[in-house]
Amino acid sequence: MTLHNEKILNYIGGDMREPESGDYIETVNPATGKAYALVPDSDTEDLQRAVDAAKNAFPGWRDTSPEDRAVIMNKMADLLEDNFERLVDAEVNDNGMTRGFASNVEVQRGAANLRAFAKASLEFCKPRHFKQDNAEGYVSHQPVGVVATISPWNLPLLLFTWKIAPALASGNCVIAKPSEITPMTASILSTLANDAGFPPGVLNIVHGTGPKIGNAITSHPDILRISFTGSTATGKAINMACAEQFKKPPSLEMGGKNPSIVFDDADFDTALEGIKTAAFANQGQICLCGSRVYVQDTIYEKFRDALVEKAKAIKIGDPAEEGTQHGATVSEDHMNKVLSHIELAVEEGGTILCGGKRHEMEGRCADGYFIEPTLIEGLDNSCRTNQEEIFGPVATLIPFSTEEEAIALANDSTYGLAASIWTQDHEKAIRVADNLETGMPWINCWNLRVLETPFGGFKNSGNGHREGVPDAMEFFTEKKTVTAPKLGGL
Ligand code: NAD
Repeated sequence: MTLHNEKILNYIGGDMREPESGDYIETVNPATGKAYALVPDSDTEDLQRAVDAAKNAFPGWRDTSPEDRAVIMNKMADLLEDNFERLVDAEVNDNGMTRGFASNVEVQRGAANLRAFAKASLEFCKPRHFKQDNAEGYVSHQPVGVVATISPWNLPLLLFTWKIAPALASGNCVIAKPSEITPMTASILSTLANDAGFPPGVLNIVHGTGPKIGNAITSHPDILRISFTGSTATGKAINMACAEQFKKPPSLEMGGKNPSIVFDDADFDTALEGIKTAAFANQGQICLCGSRVYVQDTIYEKFRDALVEKAKAIKIGDPAEEGTQHGATVSEDHMNKVLSHIELAVEEGGTILCGGKRHEMEGRCADGYFIEPTLIEGLDNSCRTNQEEIFGPVATLIPFSTEEEAIALANDSTYGLAASIWTQDHEKAIRVADNLETGMPWINCWNLRVLETPFGGFKNSGNGHREGVPDAMEFFTEKKTVTAPKLGGL
């Protein structure tokens, strides 16, 4: 019998609750391969309680001033910061991410997301007045009511807060479902929400699997918006379920197969470091990771050899230890999926330049799910390896000769989330950025985020909605135009 140190509970109507069925699933520490906590396997009964609580709370939260809502959200951010180390530990244990990544990126952004939307809502929630010769009035954004967020495992707290923050800041009551694979930081957040001052029912967190509670959320008639981040396959299923019920189209943030383009006039060392980070950050498990590396043929061999040396030098280790640069892949299933993609790359004629296999560990991590940073060359752009999202520490290298060819290769994909362009020719960089079919091209950097800009992708990476300040608040609100004759005195 597995020893579980912790039992996670749902957070519904301000109370911590067992799932009504009493059923739980296990969550596993991917660095050790050991189950360490139980997660509610919630179902429709739990969801109905959450929806009832959210509906009851909505009139009060809608009528709470944006300033007062912002105070509560900023207090929540303070509490996340007060619990910084605990949240970092939780993310390391749950996800396998390194302590450095959890500290420097993941948990900081959890608090920053809440603050950014709390601040932006003050302006966003103000009515915009208009006047012309015969008419005057105002346009306001009104919260829709009960909304849901469904988030993935790769950046658990970052993406969870990225979704709940705009929904709450704009006056909605939320049912939030974190990934069943990495529920721990959302669970910690739920234990802090009452202290932050959220009235009961404003924020509800239900745990469980996609097919069970996720599907129940998607089909619940009283949930009026669904904001989803995850795979393109799940996004498609959610989109179809919403369409069938004439629900408003969900916001879908989905997969990526992002190009990194290195021109021969790039600053070599900056590009090298950037491409390495883009390929392998968080074990390649970021939707923005650059997994197709296009290098100009004039520097291809030199750049390839230097990148291979960089990849080999990445320190793989126990993610809980300071100094580890490359932790565990999130689960055994996911590790096997990534390894099968590497096998496929070899079948397709690819040459493994480094990595290519599970990394054997000792001690407490002997059963952990580690994969070596892997670089592959010799593959055609159209093969499955270069077209399908692998979502692990695997990147391919492909030479190109001209700017036009680089753009064509980069755009030859069903995905269109992000890209990075490396060159010291500013005009060329802008030309390439303008011609790429991606939502977020970066120039001489990767994943440099400004929260007050639209976040999202072209093609199968998204469905047209964008996240970020203020786009996500647009998604969670209805616009209302109130007009009267000019003398109406509005
Ligand atoms: P996933 O689609 O398997 O799961 C995401 C979430 O959806 C989980 O909470 C899951 O329980 C839930 N879910 C699964 N089936 C469902 C269903 N039928 N109905 C409702 N909910 C359901 O994705 P994942 O494996 O957790 O995450 C990895 C994927 O997320 C990758 O494709 C990655 O590119 C993508 N991602 C995209 C972005 C972005 O902003 N575009 C950011 C991070 C991750």
